[in-house]
Amino acid sequence: MLGDQLNHAHSWYDSTDPDTLYLVVELLQETAYVRHHVQKLCAFFAAMAAFADGLREHGHAVLHLTLDQSSRYRDLPELILALCERYQVETFEYQAPDEYRLRRQLREFDMPTGVARQEYDSEHFLLPQSEFESWIKPGRHNRLESFYRRMRKRLDLLMDGDQPRGGQWNYDHDNRNKLKPADLAEIPPPRLFANDVGDIVERLERHGVDHFGRVMSELPWPVDRDQALELLDYFVATCLPRFGRFQDAMTARHEHAWSLYHSRLSFALNSKLLHPREVVDAAITAFDADDSAIDIAQVEGFVRQVIGWREYVRAVYWVNMPAYAERNQLDARRDLPAFFWTGETRMNCMRHALGQSLDWAYAHHIQRLMITGNFCLLAGIAPDQVDAWYLGIYVDAIEWVEMPNTRGMSQFADGGLIATKPYCAGGNYINKMSDYCGGCHYDVRAKTGERACPFNSLYWDFMLRHRERLATNPRIGVMYRNWDRQDEEVRSATLARARDCIDNLEKL
Ligand code: FAD
Ligand code: SF4
Repeated sequence: MLGDQLNHAHSWYDSTDPDTLYLVVELLQETAYVRHHVQKLCAFFAAMAAFADGLREHGHAVLHLTLDQSSRYRDLPELILALCERYQVETFEYQAPDEYRLRRQLREFDMPTGVARQEYDSEHFLLPQSEFESWIKPGRHNRLESFYRRMRKRLDLLMDGDQPRGGQWNYDHDNRNKLKPADLAEIPPPRLFANDVGDIVERLERHGVDHFGRVMSELPWPVDRDQALELLDYFVATCLPRFGRFQDAMTARHEHAWSLYHSRLSFALNSKLLHPREVVDAAITAFDADDSAIDIAQVEGFVRQVIGWREYVRAVYWVNMPAYAERNQLDARRDLPAFFWTGETRMNCMRHALGQSLDWAYAHHIQRLMITGNFCLLAGIAPDQVDAWYLGIYVDAIEWVEMPNTRGMSQFADGGLIATKPYCAGGNYINKMSDYCGGCHYDVRAKTGERACPFNSLYWDFMLRHRERLATNPRIGVMYRNWDRQDEEVRSATLARARDCIDNLEKL
């Protein structure tokens, strides 16, 4: 089992068989394909150890290798070949990896003569891979909304017959509130765990694993099924009643600003400690309870993320790989600024989004999309570098979900396979959704001059760089008419400010 295949309910474990040996292994190759946040490495290794213990307790034979035992092998195939010989293996069985890179590796290495290889489904996702092509067409945009409605009907979730409960499929317009000062007092503390990962950190050091981010000897992320269920219960009881309402909100003025009303279930889901169906069922059961404080807009917003976005990006990834990983439609080529690794920038919004990512290996969706992602998009950072950063820093980052969100939704490098237009915005949007701008070195209202918010001029520079491609987009074209109406002097001063920002990207 790989680190993201910790599905306790897999049919493999229905019965015990003394002739089956389960292999759970920490691999150097999995620490090194990008530079990782230390909490991500610890979360996966700790969850794998707990899973191995759980299997043993249920009578299965398990070989759990740490880096101390596995690091002498060059890669996973070399290790498997050695174990096949040592244990006289007749059949090597594995669950299909969700990442292209690993699936190819496990399918393609040469097995020793006489040893069979068999691939199994991971029994986690709601839409089987065999159906992808009838839901998502490769090489073109497929609407999330259509996908999501079809999933709602298929799974019969939040439905009244064939109609959506509450009369609407989507309550997005009820969500998206900013946090007002009075709302700040009510932000709940996040449910955190205190998993001792001191040994794992030492092991990472001993094996020279390159990592970054805040080292915590007590890891706050859930690493076993009990903790994952506890986090789910906490989310449903405490955060779901306001989940949708403040889904896009951002604040710097609260100690729990990093977690707000988000579920933080993505690690538990992506490692498969939790099944997506049990997660949405828990939310809907709480919504249906007689004394429920949850309204339809909140529960629908959550269900859409889990059965809509999550399943949708996976299907888009698989029908378009491996070409997807090469896409760079906007020809973005600049280097990622060094402050992405330190958080040291005068842009308050970026300092907060980067700082909390470095502290907690977590940022919520709008911070990833409209702060750090938006900055990279506007500044024309090479998507390979953007992908590598997102894949390394977040505790939930696995390529099948990271790449469509980053290269696709956030960087528009896929040319519109995920999003119909780039998610680009100037300082106005950030100011509308957050209280970051008040405490910033830069002036969010200014487009020109050295204290002008970098997002403002970079926005117009981006728009003009891609005018030919974007002007025909009905949702964007109007912006060009606004630009053309502006005074020539303002336009050239704005572009001069953008040039200045680009030339001094590292110092912003
Ligand atoms: P909540 O806000 O509580 O949402 C509930 C659940 O819905 C999440 O746990 C997640 O499983 C699912 N979900 C929500 N939005 C998405 C989405 N756009 N795509 C897929 N699933 C979604 N998510 C990852 O799991 N791994 C990644 O590596 C990742 N990289 C991202 C990179 C960028 C640039 C962007 C814009 C988004 C990325 N996302 C990624 C999607 C989303 O930001 C995270 O799933 C979410 O922030 C995780 O926090 P949460 O569990 O508190 O989510
Ligand atoms: Fe970010 Fe600009 Fe606001 Fe500063 S002024 S916080 S850089 S949007």
